[in-house]
Amino acid sequence: MQISQNEDIQNYNTFGLSAKAEHFVRISNVQEARAICLLDFEEKRVLGGGSNILFANNIKGLLIKNEIKGKSLRHFTNKVQITVGGGVNWHEFVLWAVEHDFGGVENLSLIPGTVGASPIQNIGAYGVELKDVFVKCKALNLKTGKSRTFTKKTCAFGYRDSFFKNEGKGKWLIYEVTFTLTKNKHRKNTSYGAIQKTLELKGVSHPTISDISEAVIEIRTSKLPDPKKIGNCGSFFKNPEVEAAFFQKLKSNNPNIPSYPMPSGKIKVPAGWLIEQCGWKGKRVGNTGCYKHQALVLVNHGGAKGKEVSDLAHAIIESVQQKFEIRLTPEVNLW
Ligand code: FAD
Ligand code: NAP
Repeated sequence: MQISQNEDIQNYNTFGLSAKAEHFVRISNVQEARAICLLDFEEKRVLGGGSNILFANNIKGLLIKNEIKGKSLRHFTNKVQITVGGGVNWHEFVLWAVEHDFGGVENLSLIPGTVGASPIQNIGAYGVELKDVFVKCKALNLKTGKSRTFTKKTCAFGYRDSFFKNEGKGKWLIYEVTFTLTKNKHRKNTSYGAIQKTLELKGVSHPTISDISEAVIEIRTSKLPDPKKIGNCGSFFKNPEVEAAFFQKLKSNNPNIPSYPMPSGKIKVPAGWLIEQCGWKGKRVGNTGCYKHQALVLVNHGGAKGKEVSDLAHAIIESVQQKFEIRLTPEVNLW
């Protein structure tokens, strides 16, 4: 384990923003992680795949790249409990689960990043969230190196949200996550977005979890920019949820507004639609801009600075606020 100084971290964020870390270390097991936690740096931050971070500045203190791997299984009659190292690539874990016919994460195919980051924002896509398969995670306190087990309850999961984005922000290093997946009687969810339509076009009427994973991969590949080709962090903003009465007012002025009623009684409005209505879709501002196929995704056309992207994000927030009286909040972590 070697701590380097002034490390170039441009290749460690999917936005491809250039930045330096004052001190940088890779950890590949829990012992190394604990030893690093005990070092006396004023600031310590954990980096996974860098697919949900905007580097607005150089990083002060110690940046810890989590590369803890490993997987262990406990079999039960109808389900399997799997504990996975925090540094394992999320999509590789999903492909492995699908290959073994373990169900529950197929809708979460092709999400970039690491297993250790998955509880941070309760990753979600196509009607499934991490919390649906989550059992517990173990994390080290970044100051004391002490381990704590977090249950579903203590993680306080919400929509793209958890304890780790609030009270626990920047305090923990998640080194393993335990999931429950189904071995048979899979609870398949094909009702969301374009999954059903994609399956129909392929002539699949009784989809396996593998069919669903493939459909999700196909849809995502056609809609989202590949970070290897064009820098981005996926959805930059969360979808806002508004009160029903406020939504009625919006709807009377915008009859075509898409909407989804939530169990809470609130109404979810796709942020991408709001941004598009303000004229941002496909617009380029300097080296940054809004992706041409999905306005919710901000992109780096090459050579963009973190400040340029955050200035664009602020301009979008202000224009949506002016037009719709809705304040968008970033989903991406601003560093
Ligand atoms: P990073 O970006 O490295 O870190 C994100 C935050 O988590 C940081 O604050 C970091 O400090 C913290 N963190 C990371 N690892 C740990 C750890 N082990 N312990 C403690 N803290 C940690 N997200 C979705 O929810 N759904 C999607 O469908 C989705 N699609 C995406 C598509 C694209 C093309 C891209 C680029 C991103 C997408 N994302 C999506 C966002 C992103 O992939 C997820 O949020 C992912 O979980 C981030 O993982 P990461 O390892 O890259 O985390
Ligand atoms: P989409 O299918 O074009 O739909 C637009 C938005 O409407 C989505 O964001 C989704 O909200 C919502 N939506 C669609 N069908 C819904 C339903 N049946 N019930 C409730 N809400 C519904 O979306 P997309 O951009 O192609 O993304 C597809 C899925 O992948 C979404 O779940 C999205 O969150 C996820 N995704 C996430 C990221 C990220 O970085 N976070 C990036 C790409 C895709 P939700 O977002 O709340 O699901």
